[in-house]
Amino acid sequence: MTRIDVPSETLLVEMGNDGLNILETTMQMSDMDESAQVQCDICSKPLGKMKDVKHIESPESITIAVWNGFKPEKMLKATENMLKEEGEENPAEIMEIVLDSWKSIVDKSETPWALCEECYESIQIYINKGGS
Ligand SMILES: [Zn+2]
Repeated sequence: MTRIDVPSETLLVEMGNDGLNILETTMQMSDMDESAQVQCDICSKPLGKMKDVKHIESPESITIAVWNGFKPEKMLKATENMLKEEGEENPAEIMEIVLDSWKSIVDKSETPWALCEECYESIQIYINKGGS
């Protein structure tokens, strides 16, 4: 059994006869009071307090970026490294599930996303890509 922490969700997966099964997903509730420390919703980089966050994107913009091919590269890389460190033999298969699960988080998301400078810039390219 492997536990995978993605920024806003924890997955519990298990290798079954017909591939990987997701046993459990746990959404982590984030506390959004004024003094709470905010993390980038894509790569989990600390951004300081809510009032200091420079880049906020609507969930619709994130969805558009994903349609246009955006992937949370830094988060995926960190997860892949973590799986390798844990001695996971087939990280590629788990990575697909992590990405699918992340996309479903994007689909369900109804709250604005706080982004760090880097993620903001990389996602802008995808948000503007589909335009007329
Ligand atoms: Zn970021």
